Amino acid sequence: MGGALAPYRRVVVKIGSALLVEGRSGVLKRAWMESIADDVARLAAGGADVLLVSSGAIAMGRGVLGLPKGKLKLEESQAAAAVGQIALARAWSEVLAARGLTAGQVLLTLGDTEERRRYLNARATIGTLLKMKAVPVINENDTVATTEIRYGDNDRLGARVAAMMGADLLVLLSDIDGLYTAPPALDPEARHLPVVDRITPEIEAMAGAAGSELSRGGMKTKIEAGKIATVAGTRMIIASGKIDGPLSAVDGGGPHTLFLAEANPVTARKAWIAGHLEPRGTVAVDDGAVRALRSGKSLLPAGVTRITGRFERGDAVRVLDAAGLEIARGLVAYDAADAERIRGRNSSAIEEILGVPGRSEMIHRDDLVLTGEG
Ligand code: GLU
Repeated sequence: MGGALAPYRRVVVKIGSALLVEGRSGVLKRAWMESIADDVARLAAGGADVLLVSSGAIAMGRGVLGLPKGKLKLEESQAAAAVGQIALARAWSEVLAARGLTAGQVLLTLGDTEERRRYLNARATIGTLLKMKAVPVINENDTVATTEIRYGDNDRLGARVAAMMGADLLVLLSDIDGLYTAPPALDPEARHLPVVDRITPEIEAMAGAAGSELSRGGMKTKIEAGKIATVAGTRMIIASGKIDGPLSAVDGGGPHTLFLAEANPVTARKAWIAGHLEPRGTVAVDDGAVRALRSGKSLLPAGVTRITGRFERGDAVRVLDAAGLEIARGLVAYDAADAERIRGRNSSAIEEILGVPGRSEMIHRDDLVLTGEG
């Protein structure tokens, strides 16, 4: 993707039931699904991590079980989800595999993003899938989620996932191409908003409460999702999924509403590094490196004196000064063994030491936050 979506490195795409499943029959709209799989493959080929949050389990299960139209009881929708999720995940796995991509099914309940231990676990698993270049296909675990403990709609689930994974973009594919000043079906004066800087009470008032039988969320839940995403530094796009290749359409300048994030992704990423990660090891540095870090520079291998712990590339580590006090935390660019081999050495020697070219920083400044005991 070389257009509007080009800057984003980690993108969560939320796909609603109404787009994916034929309302009356509960049959999957396969051709449309193929077109979105093409989009995903294109994003992935450009180097972005792509995560899908796909609804449709209940709608498909309804079709398979031949349930009548109308509102389902909770236990009926749970049963429908149990049946439909198999078909849904299988379809994603097939269409992605046809494009050389591997799908990994992840079913989450509310506690998985709200309770710290489970949050860390869910994040680690999804992070590992991304490292392995698999595409997480995520849905709520409807079969066990009861009224009190559920997201209830995948717009909010998508936003939680985007915030948890430090995504820089959440795309909500909807039956409408963005936010309007008033419901366009009712008000001929309604104006489409291409960009929303901040979600103000005025913006909230523009979002009615409409939703179809298939999708639980109307514009209102999309704005709720927008709040979750944008405070975490994730931008959000609402675009129409009623065309083939909806992501390519956005990329090419097609209509959508872009919600800007409150913090920039680097600031939000830093908040996330400081607050959410369990450090896996330590990197002790000399006084020169302490000064460099305090003036906003990256940590170079030359300033590193000692490594402890068993960490992988991308793990969080604590940065200690010569007295052993923590001065910073960051995501390290090398695993512990390689870090040990290049510590104290000039960055220009990395390729010779490791046999492959590597990043010249041990911890890049965008991945580093000063925590300052020292
Ligand atoms: N998790 C539900 C399903 O897969 C959908 C929730 C929603 O539409 O937002 O059927």
